[in-house]
Amino acid sequence: MEEDRELSELSRMIAKARRAVVFTGAGISTESGIPDFRGPGGIWTKMAPIDFADFLASEEARILSWQRRFEADETLRSARPNRGHRAVAALFGRGTLAAVITQNIDGLHQASGIPEERVIELHGSTTHARCLDCSRRYEIEALRRAFEETRKAPVCESCGGFIKTATISFGQSMPETPMRRAHSETLAADLFLVAGSSLVVYPAAGFPELAKTNGAALVIVNREPTPLDGIADLALHRTIGETLGAALGVE
Ligand code: NAD
Ligand code: ZN
Repeated sequence: MEEDRELSELSRMIAKARRAVVFTGAGISTESGIPDFRGPGGIWTKMAPIDFADFLASEEARILSWQRRFEADETLRSARPNRGHRAVAALFGRGTLAAVITQNIDGLHQASGIPEERVIELHGSTTHARCLDCSRRYEIEALRRAFEETRKAPVCESCGGFIKTATISFGQSMPETPMRRAHSETLAADLFLVAGSSLVVYPAAGFPELAKTNGAALVIVNREPTPLDGIADLALHRTIGETLGAALGVE
């Protein structure tokens, strides 16, 4: 059967790899109950993103941005790694996964047991917040309690700067160290496996292209087609949990 051939090809490519990189997007976390952006029912079918310039320019935008974060808090805090995350962790356990490059901000790869330093977060993390000026760290829970009292967007106790989740918004510059590390891991990879990304957000989506032109095998597992399916060695339009779970022997 066609599907079984796809799975055995995926298993074969994973087994052959000596230095794999897994590249993930919001799609790997939907099975943990966190909606994606662009898939059917994705967040952006319901609300527009707030870009960085708006966040800086307007108290109203900052309040809206924080309201959304607090509303999502229960979902984020109760989310657990799913079969897809566990399969990636199992690949790490085999010793052939060099790094996970993720666009996700939910911390679920780390929660699945992959060491912190092997997870490269291109778009930061929403598990905590930082002052945009002095980088002082703040915890979401404390900010939420203060917001409920004041209804004002939080500002830094040290320097008065705006506090924002430690994520990268549209219009905000990409974090240097993760970008550099993602670049070198991509160049060192012999297998580049994409799971759950629409591959339309740049510069992140540039990494699979770079891997392929540098000679790595490129595999894409995504329910919907992506613009890079045409250059992939294998593009599977399938659900991540059952696909990676079956390929890696993880229930
Ligand atoms: P995206 O929403 O653009 O694309 C997700 C893709 O995953 C879609 O093409 C969808 O069809 C596919 N998908 C969803 N569930 C799937 C499943 N179970 N199996 C297979 N495919 C599935 O997400 P993106 O490419 O990551 O880019 C958007 C941005 O979204 C990123 O910058 C990221 O920071 C942010 N984001 C992150 C989270 C998170 O951390 N969990 C959630 C929403 C958005
Ligand atoms: Zn500050």
